[in-house]
Amino acid sequence: MLEHTLRERDEHMEEKLHKLKSLLARVHDLETAAGLLSWDQETYMPAGGAEARAEQVATLGRLAHEFFTSEEIGNLLVSLEPYARKLEYDSNDASLVRVTRRDYDRAIKLPSELVAEIARTGALARQVWKEAKETSNFSIFRPYLEKIVELCVQKAQALGYEDRIYDALLDEYEPGMKASRIEKIFADLKTELVSIVGAISVCEKPDDSFFHKEYGERAQWDFGIEVIKDFGFDLNHGRQDVSAHPFTTAFSIKDVRLTTRIQKDYLPSGLFSTLHECGHGLYQQGFDLSLERTPLAGGASLGVHESQSRLWENLIGRSRLFWNHYYPRLKEIFPTQLKGVSLEQFYQAINRVEPSLIRVEADEATYNLHIMLRFELENALLEGRVKVKDLPKVWNAKMEEYLHVVPPNDGQGVLQDIHWSQAYMGYFPTYSLGNLMSAQLFQCATQEIPSLPQQIGSGQFRDLLDWLQKNVHRHGRKLTMAELLQRITGKPLEAQSYLAYIREKYSDIYGDLS
Ligand code: ZN
Repeated sequence: MLEHTLRERDEHMEEKLHKLKSLLARVHDLETAAGLLSWDQETYMPAGGAEARAEQVATLGRLAHEFFTSEEIGNLLVSLEPYARKLEYDSNDASLVRVTRRDYDRAIKLPSELVAEIARTGALARQVWKEAKETSNFSIFRPYLEKIVELCVQKAQALGYEDRIYDALLDEYEPGMKASRIEKIFADLKTELVSIVGAISVCEKPDDSFFHKEYGERAQWDFGIEVIKDFGFDLNHGRQDVSAHPFTTAFSIKDVRLTTRIQKDYLPSGLFSTLHECGHGLYQQGFDLSLERTPLAGGASLGVHESQSRLWENLIGRSRLFWNHYYPRLKEIFPTQLKGVSLEQFYQAINRVEPSLIRVEADEATYNLHIMLRFELENALLEGRVKVKDLPKVWNAKMEEYLHVVPPNDGQGVLQDIHWSQAYMGYFPTYSLGNLMSAQLFQCATQEIPSLPQQIGSGQFRDLLDWLQKNVHRHGRKLTMAELLQRITGKPLEAQSYLAYIREKYSDIYGDLS
């Protein structure tokens, strides 16, 4: 009799779960449709389409938000939570209820009007930002950025926070992370990095002038595709296009879109952005298929996402082992451009350390300094310590302080990143968190796959991709960064593995750095 009742109750719960999943699938469809519109805006849409597109994206965003924050979903969560708590923590159903609750609690705090306003402002601002960047004209972007900062403050206030306003925004991109913890990690990182960069700055720089010859765009594109296919990116379930700012998005686990940008007169730009975005794409293609059309079919966090892109771009793509295999092929494609350039010269050139203006083209030693600068400025903007009108000046002063270079114009300075135009504040530090995580993961993979170095040296990536899929990818959003790291490495996020990797790599190139 009792068993009968329990079974009935479970059946009842199954029904509720089914209902919840179908409601969430509808939200997911609206969000991915909006994602497709944004992808199109960055790749093929004529500039004149911006205003109409802003309305379309805002309407879809508002609908998704309204559907998601419905009372029906709230009630289903309340009745499913006791049942879900009895299931295994990382089972699909327990995770779905837990992660949906986290999203739901955030979402109901945001008024639909504010969500739509942010989406609309973001779409308009993005178009103006493009022009402002191209013409190095901060003043046309300024009113949009002022509006965006104001909207981000409103958003943070609606979400609420205990300690710092930054925490409210950061939590969306890196669940559970706090600004104060990042400041601690960054402090460790900064001291060491500044010392390493300082030691390198007095060394002779590897020659990389051959990167600036003319490299045919088609040939660059084809080589990139060749490598990402070897990495395991499935072009039957994904594609690559061109955009001003490379990014990855997905409309399904089976439809993952990469973008890249190719520069004719600078080889590393297209090459490494292709490998980088591929790392994001492999993650998106690696979610367990049972998570399709649920909120779990996504990256655990932006930091975890970035750990994947950085791992493929840097720990693999800038390694000597990798180029042992690929350099002969690259030389075959560009025989005149790379004439007389040895593998060792090429390797050193792609790892040349030099403080520079542009974050996305920064080397591994200076990259995190660019992030620290943005993290500090965002905190200052949100806390009202810096005004938007003074931003170019403050930006340039910080560049000088951190990297000893000053942008000659705002296009190469404060206007270089797309993020603020899209109202993404609280996002930048996840790049550095991803760098740190990538080193921790790679260290662990190397211990667990003894032949990994030989495999990389012969262009074989299957075991590594399988390892990542098993340990990271398949879980989607089921586990947080902290939970993933604890399970895989037994440790929390820390700067030491990354710093050890950086020290070892650059001492090998530049000699003793202590
Ligand atoms: Zn990335």
